[in-house]
Amino acid sequence: MRFSSSHLHIFSTSSQLYGREKSLKVYIMDNYDFIVIGGGPAGMMAAGCAGERGEKVILLEKTDRLGKKLLMCATGRCNVTNTAPLHVFIEAYGNGGNFLRPALETFDNEKLRLFLLSYGAETIVESKGRVFPKSQRADSVLNALETYMHNHHVKIQTNTHVLHLKLENNRIVGVETNHEEIPGRNVLIATGGLSYPNTGSTGDGYKLASSVGHTVRPTYPAIIAFETAESWVKSLQGMPIKNANISCYQQNKKIAEHFGEALFTHYGISGPAILDISKRLVECLPNGPVQIHIDFKPKHATEELDDILLNQIKRHGGKAIKSCLTPLIPEKLAPILLNLCNIETQKKASQITTPERNKILKQLKGLRLTLVRHRPIEEAIVTAGGISLDEVDTRTMKSKLLEGLYFAGEVLDIDGPTGGFNLQAAFSTGYLAGSSVKTTF
Ligand SMILES: Cc1cc2nc3c(=O)[nH]c(=O)nc-3n(C[C@H](O)[C@H](O)[C@H](O)COP(=O)(O)OP(=O)(O)OC[C@H]3O[C@@H](n4cnc5c(N)ncnc54)[C@H](O)[C@@H]3O)c2cc1C
Repeated sequence: MRFSSSHLHIFSTSSQLYGREKSLKVYIMDNYDFIVIGGGPAGMMAAGCAGERGEKVILLEKTDRLGKKLLMCATGRCNVTNTAPLHVFIEAYGNGGNFLRPALETFDNEKLRLFLLSYGAETIVESKGRVFPKSQRADSVLNALETYMHNHHVKIQTNTHVLHLKLENNRIVGVETNHEEIPGRNVLIATGGLSYPNTGSTGDGYKLASSVGHTVRPTYPAIIAFETAESWVKSLQGMPIKNANISCYQQNKKIAEHFGEALFTHYGISGPAILDISKRLVECLPNGPVQIHIDFKPKHATEELDDILLNQIKRHGGKAIKSCLTPLIPEKLAPILLNLCNIETQKKASQITTPERNKILKQLKGLRLTLVRHRPIEEAIVTAGGISLDEVDTRTMKSKLLEGLYFAGEVLDIDGPTGGFNLQAAFSTGYLAGSSVKTTF
């Protein structure tokens, strides 16, 4: 194996050889105990953790700075974790939950919050147990991780793109980058998924892992918005629908249901309630379009809603029917809804017939949209699929196939819902990998 001069230190010493004083040059390779590929939350946590244990660590990041995606999290506020108990975490990751148990037990949400606090990033809890830095700024989380690595002498090299893993006798001996070869006994792949490629997450880890025999499960977007067949959504772009119940059907079978906030977009529909069930919808879409029914007033039974509507009509009989709907739905939505009922928007409320009222009620309790496709994976919050968990040791994050290889973060076949679950998975797996590295072999 060829090593570049930047990793070779030459020390001169003297020694007694064959009774003669001789100058002896000892060549010591700058051989790292741990090479971390990827400067996202998983890689940074792993690097700091291994450094803290006295390992000689280098972190290689292909872009010009660390944590680009971390800085985007929750539109720059960074929902670092959730206060949910362990069993809720385990359930949240679906099939990946049990795999994550040792990582979560080793470094859970409380430990993460204490870690951040100890590095000056106090956290606060918001609705649904979501935890954010008190500063409301993702860069305080990044600063904590950078200080952690700095304090433990992690060497950081940005603009360094890892192209290949180097093997000898079926074990890792280093990596090849766009500049040089770097020798190292252990290598962590923490290259993230496929979304937001301008942050550096372009799926390199899948190629690196499969080049040494690892199985990569098919990847697809897990938290993602959808395009609809109905083009009228465009006129409602940016309009949120709060406290709605969303039921999803395919071939008349209910496939998902969720309560919360949805958001109309220029192409279709998004918002937390949609994103939370998006993984299931993405999985179903190859079998055909998915119908979603939006119940704008889930807390009111149809009869109750009819009473409210009748009351409105009685009070404002001389006004246009659309003005009777505004206490129930956003103003911009009223003409669309009436259009779908084939009712003239300016028709006087007092002239609305019972069948017309029933049509309005039907739309209020279940406006239909047809999802035709999901948005591209580049726009996803998280990538589902990835490195098969069957081939990774759950207690160490070590490859079961190749000595010296480790995985952490989104590159693994793990994804969680919104609410801080994905960052916690990255931190926990990174921590476990960094604390499991053994330099003796
Ligand atoms: C818009 C958005 C908002 C989000 N908000 C939240 C949130 O609030 N809470 C939450 O829990 N999750 C959130 N997520 C998800 C979360 O950001 C990711 O799950 C998390 O960043 C994954 O961490 P990671 O370290 O595994 O990978 P990444 O953060 O993707 O980092 C991987 C790093 O590896 C580098 N890399 C890749 N290939 C190479 C290579 N060949 N050589 C060297 N370096 C390489 C990349 O440049 C990148 O810096 C959000 C995601 C997005 C896109």
